[in-house]
Amino acid sequence: MAGKKAKKKTKLVSISRRRKPAWQQTIARERIEILFKEAEKQAKAGNTELSNRYVQLARKIGMRYQVKIAKPLKRKFCKYCYSYLQPGLTCSQRIKDKSIIIKCFSCKKIIRYPFAKK
Ligand SMILES: [Zn+2]
Repeated sequence: MAGKKAKKKTKLVSISRRRKPAWQQTIARERIEILFKEAEKQAKAGNTELSNRYVQLARKIGMRYQVKIAKPLKRKFCKYCYSYLQPGLTCSQRIKDKSIIIKCFSCKKIIRYPFAKK
């Protein structure tokens, strides 16, 4: 972790890979969470296209603000085609050998996650 240094204001920093300010990242994280909640709502209502769009938006925000999508949220969409995963609706979910096996209905790929302990 870099120590806190006084910001130099004489030079304008080029638009490089600078981290976005913390407050912006906090807002981005909140927005991502809201988008996933909305995606879930829409998926349950049968609007899978809309929920996929919310996932896309959430990913875009994550990329723009260099915010990682939280692990539990990451499991809510397909890592291959990025469609929202609603068990029984857009994917099937099974538990086998201490892992969760998800089959995405839109790209037919299988995603495996180790069983999360809580
Ligand atoms: Zn998929």
